[in-house]
Amino acid sequence: MRYTSTRDARVDVTSSQAIAKGISPEGGLFLPKTIPALSLWEIKALAEMDYAGRAEHILSKFLTAEGGWTRDELQEHVRGAYTGTFADPAVTPLVDFGPGAAQNAHMNDVHILELFHGPTCAFKDLALQLLPRLLGSAAARSTGGDKEILILTATSGDTGKAALEGFKDVPGTKIIVFYPSDGVSAVQKRQMVSQEGSNVRVVGVIGNFDDAQNGVKDIFANPSIAAVLNARGRVLSSANSINWGRLAPQIVYYVSAYCDLLRGEKITAGECVNFVVPTGNFGNILAAFYAKRMGLPVKKLICASNKNRILTDFFETGVYDRSRPFYTTSSPSMDILISSNLERLLYLAARRDAEQCAGWMRQLAAGGRYAIPPEMLRTLQTEFAAGSCDEQQCAAAIAKAWTKWGYLSDPHTAVGLHVLEEYRARTEDPTRSVVVATASPFKFAGSVLEALGEPAPPDEFAALDALQAAAGVPCPIPLRGLRDKPVRFKETCAPARMAEYTRW
Ligand SMILES: *Cc1c(COP(=O)(O)O)cnc(C)c1O
Repeated sequence: MRYTSTRDARVDVTSSQAIAKGISPEGGLFLPKTIPALSLWEIKALAEMDYAGRAEHILSKFLTAEGGWTRDELQEHVRGAYTGTFADPAVTPLVDFGPGAAQNAHMNDVHILELFHGPTCAFKDLALQLLPRLLGSAAARSTGGDKEILILTATSGDTGKAALEGFKDVPGTKIIVFYPSDGVSAVQKRQMVSQEGSNVRVVGVIGNFDDAQNGVKDIFANPSIAAVLNARGRVLSSANSINWGRLAPQIVYYVSAYCDLLRGEKITAGECVNFVVPTGNFGNILAAFYAKRMGLPVKKLICASNKNRILTDFFETGVYDRSRPFYTTSSPSMDILISSNLERLLYLAARRDAEQCAGWMRQLAAGGRYAIPPEMLRTLQTEFAAGSCDEQQCAAAIAKAWTKWGYLSDPHTAVGLHVLEEYRARTEDPTRSVVVATASPFKFAGSVLEALGEPAPPDEFAALDALQAAAGVPCPIPLRGLRDKPVRFKETCAPARMAEYTRW
């Protein structure tokens, strides 16, 4: 399996090179030249396997002998990433609402795919427990093994901690995480600035997530920085979802959820389901799209946005326009106006026309806007639905899920619940649906308490205890004791100065 770039058709690299580099030199994103097929027969066989077995099978289609991968190596990486690291033995358990949901005309046949049982309590762990292992192998093969890898990561809150956990003390790597200094929750921030490990650094960027992400992209696109680093025996790579090595592991849990539905006899083989994905950078839902294109029986992918509804507008009108107010919301990991991974969807929708895709990205960079042709929009609308959720609706969705259906939801997941209910009411589409739960409610305890009408202590750490008491649900182990963890990193910098940190 060879890989190319969304912006330059001449790019032709192996999977190892794509993962080691993270982003193509001209600024495009790597993706496989073809989409491998997954048959119903294979899906039935996967249903009999555990999560790691499913992951190994799916990943072997993207990480082939061409890139130097062996099946044994993949198996070792996958077992290492998913054995004993997740609090639930199923890794990504599929859970049902309480009986109240069946009485709601629009919320029956709904399941929740919980992706937050990893070490940092958000879905990013699924990819970031595996990526350092993949990157280690990939870099050893593509750089000859004598270079140190410097990982640069911009985070809207959850990626940073998951990447730090994944990469801490991994030999031959250093990692710098840039977070928007006022754009993450107190819990998210404490998780990052208290990070242990000798090869980690955490910096607050004075700005929002887009500033941090653009700063990292600029560093990657700067040939003189690359040359200086190269002379010092270093290469840059990325742990953001622009790295294919992060996307591939995310395809697995969509297939796995389908397998669990099959095993639980909720569906028959070949029956279509819908996936509802709370979306920011478009990484998670893009992985679902790949699963669908591989052959997973999926009817609609429902893209759920918070008040920053740039993607909802895009799927409704075909115009992507970032000239709009930026809102900070109770679902901060989705407060994004530049959804990087949409570029991969555009490239595929444009029938792999890199020139066309590069043109739209130039328009976005220069004028903040691009528009796709109407026929392309119509095709996208057959596969995607989209909806958004404002702050009041999000709080109402948290309250309703808890009081009516017995499910304690975090604000990101609640955005998905709201958008699904609205979608069902609007379309009457009865297809069995899986809502992706992207974070533990305890990660956003203050917002959840407020939504439930409980007094929310202003101190977010006290809120963890209060939520535990109010809901009678135990706080996940990694979040307990966070308050008492010493702060190691206090630095902040302006976006323009981010590049200086590459000298570290
Ligand atoms: C990152 C994140 C999202 C958004 O995922 P994308 O892949 O950026 O679309 C949603 N919810 C939570 C909790 C996250 O951490």
